[in-house]
Amino acid sequence: MADLTLTFDNGPDAETTPLVLDVLARRGIRATFFVVGERLAAPGGHALAAAAHAAGHWIGNHTWTHSGPLGTRDGAALAEQEIGRTQTEIGALAHPHRLFRPQGGGGALGPHLFRSRDVAFLKAQRMSCVLWNAIPGDWKDPDGWVDRALAQIDAQSWTLLVLHDLPTGAMRHLDAFLDQVAARNVRLQQDFPPDCMPLVDGVVVRPINDCVTDAPKE
Ligand SMILES: [Zn+2]
Repeated sequence: MADLTLTFDNGPDAETTPLVLDVLARRGIRATFFVVGERLAAPGGHALAAAAHAAGHWIGNHTWTHSGPLGTRDGAALAEQEIGRTQTEIGALAHPHRLFRPQGGGGALGPHLFRSRDVAFLKAQRMSCVLWNAIPGDWKDPDGWVDRALAQIDAQSWTLLVLHDLPTGAMRHLDAFLDQVAARNVRLQQDFPPDCMPLVDGVVVRPINDCVTDAPKE
């Protein structure tokens, strides 16, 4: 039996987040929403995140502006501006492990994700880093992502799938996608595959330097 963990990034969004919450509620599925701080702070944002939290979903941090992978951006205070400010905005909705997902900038894992400045900040704040192992590209292919996601689920034992509660139209297929998941021998999980979590509560538990632009050579 394969496992599947669902995550929804870049919201909350007034149009799409309620649709996603409705589909998940009808199916009894719990997931994680990695929110963008400035969208959380916008009118209505907190109410959407609070509704997700009240339904048993986990709320994670996905930067304040989502304006480019952290490893590509300068600024000594950038980690505080992007990660710290968002965590403050999440406030009491935060997961106990203080979940953070970096912006991938198209989905690839690599040294563009972080600078050592950011990893130091996550360690100091005892945060946990949640990466991924499946990006079906729902934001750029709102109809075609379903088949790619199913192929990714079939190809590995525990898929951590990145979807987006953005108004692209892609989430109109979420219910049909989950029908196809249910027809397979797949177990829905809320936890994350350990391989996708290099940092837990501020402690490096798996190699992370491949995701850090200026990491010291080992
Ligand atoms: Zn994102």
